[in-house]
Amino acid sequence: MSQNPLPFTVQDLHAAIPERCFKPNAARSFAYLIFDLAVIAGLFAILTQTSLWYIEWPVIFLIGTMLWSLFVIGHDAGHGSFSSNRTINTIVGILVHGAILVPYRGWQRSHALHHMKTGHFHQEEVFRPARKGEDTFFRKLIFRSGIFLIIGWPMYKIGIRNLTTYKPVTGSHYLPQSDLYTKSVRVSWYFGLLSLFGFLALYVSLGLLFGWGFFAKYILAPYLIYGAWLTFVTYMQHVSPKVPVYDDKDWTRLKGALASVDRDYGPFNWLTHNIGNLHVIHHTFPTIPHYRLQEATDAIKPILGEHYLTSKRFVIFDFISSQLRCHHVVPAEGYEKYESAYAFVKPQT
Ligand SMILES: [Zn+2]
Repeated sequence: MSQNPLPFTVQDLHAAIPERCFKPNAARSFAYLIFDLAVIAGLFAILTQTSLWYIEWPVIFLIGTMLWSLFVIGHDAGHGSFSSNRTINTIVGILVHGAILVPYRGWQRSHALHHMKTGHFHQEEVFRPARKGEDTFFRKLIFRSGIFLIIGWPMYKIGIRNLTTYKPVTGSHYLPQSDLYTKSVRVSWYFGLLSLFGFLALYVSLGLLFGWGFFAKYILAPYLIYGAWLTFVTYMQHVSPKVPVYDDKDWTRLKGALASVDRDYGPFNWLTHNIGNLHVIHHTFPTIPHYRLQEATDAIKPILGEHYLTSKRFVIFDFISSQLRCHHVVPAEGYEKYESAYAFVKPQT
């Protein structure tokens, strides 16, 4: 039995949300997908017309950002919120994620584990915290330098998952024999890998055909930016001085779902399908499509009260705060709280 029970249940929250929020609209989802693809095509067209670095760099940044938006579409498909038709979700997920080199089924599985154990001290799948004594040199190096933003996503996909904690989970997203795939490897899982390696072969062929300078500018740089977006947003969703972490005796699924923060990404809130600014509701009810997250959040906010974690500061300032304040966790009453390892940082009250 959990200590400090919440004053509401998941049923209370569900009842407050209009029924339409739980119903995916495939036409609407496809419209977002087509919009994303059209913007990406337009940005690539602009890139072919200029060699001025001060135009090229922002355009490459925007392409990487839109690849992140595409990822969110595949994420919805993985949750079954792109369409109410399973086959459509699977086909869209395999193609969209394949194009950005995500093994759709493997990631869908590890993401489900993240949703199942969000905020759990020992079983969280992403950004699992550590005690002070477990904050190793390697962990410090990759987190405090910020290098995790660049290498985090490729490492995670290859199978170096939570390497920086004392109980790492391993298992590649690319290998059906890894721990992610142990239950039942369906045909669609292989199609996910086929899609990914098909796109990878296409990108390498373009490099061979047009040169590695072309490859770096049109493929590698946008890919790294999208990977940095993914790692940055995931980190900001779950790592904050305000976010409680629960051990076995205190953790419940709802408490874990609420151990997430809605941030402000300014104009990128809408452009990246509200993945960063409306994440609490996504963890509470993962089947709500991205275009219903605002309505559903507004419906449960009065019930959540102080249990709704949000920040109105532009996200970069919050990132600096998390970088300074969230190095390890210490026991608090009924939960574990993040603490800074820096002596000059005053503890938050
Ligand atoms: Zn999710």
